[in-house]
Amino acid sequence: MTTWIGTSWKMNKTLAEARAFVDGLVAARDALGGVRAFVIPPHTAIAAVRERLPSDVPVLVGAQNAHWEPAGAYTGEVSMGMVADAGATLVEIGHSERREYFGETDDTVARKVAAAAAAGLTPLLCVGEPAEVRAAGGEIDWIAGQVSRGLSRLAAHDLRKVVVAYEPVWAIGDLGREASPHEIAPVMEMLSTRFGPGGDARHKISAVLYGGSVNRFNAAALLDVPGTDGLFVGRAAWDVAGFVELVRIG
Ligand code: PGA
Repeated sequence: MTTWIGTSWKMNKTLAEARAFVDGLVAARDALGGVRAFVIPPHTAIAAVRERLPSDVPVLVGAQNAHWEPAGAYTGEVSMGMVADAGATLVEIGHSERREYFGETDDTVARKVAAAAAAGLTPLLCVGEPAEVRAAGGEIDWIAGQVSRGLSRLAAHDLRKVVVAYEPVWAIGDLGREASPHEIAPVMEMLSTRFGPGGDARHKISAVLYGGSVNRFNAAALLDVPGTDGLFVGRAAWDVAGFVELVRIG
């Protein structure tokens, strides 16, 4: 299976910075064919990134969030159809920062996963346990529960559209620490066999990614963890050279 390598820019990058990143991707186009690469800009830059990417440079563009309602009086929100119209083919749902700071719950996540799939987008469902759950050894049940609830409103035939990213909360961002391959292996194996490509064909989602403090030094070892179909990267891929380096490792 082709390895997925993707980045979310979170709340970073002006339009000029987004376009410069795309120009770097175009310059490295030869490296991109070997992986399934994706870039998730802030909403303001989705269309600019999509429009600047030549159609023969194989990079998917995503959105970091969208609402489940198709349209209406929801000030400040954008719909799945709107991000698709701007050029996104993928939408990130349930990142731990959205769960922590913006009130995302398993219910809003499930609504968004179903709405994304219905709009023809790839839902990128993010799950991860907090440090206390890991300390108590509860991560397998926590993650299995988050994924089951996240998929609960999805039509069975849409399951294969879903990508899950396992991102332990304690391993994300500046305050996190790197997870070792050994620490993530049981969770990746559970996700792959219970929900993913390694499991029963009736319940297949399309890929299981790992994210959280991924960088060029740990990427190869994390990709080697059985059940891992790719990497979802923040800080280490915000610079286009860093992203391309990770693409080459993938
Ligand atoms: P990080 O972010 O790579 O900067 O830890 C990962 C993520 O939030 O997806």
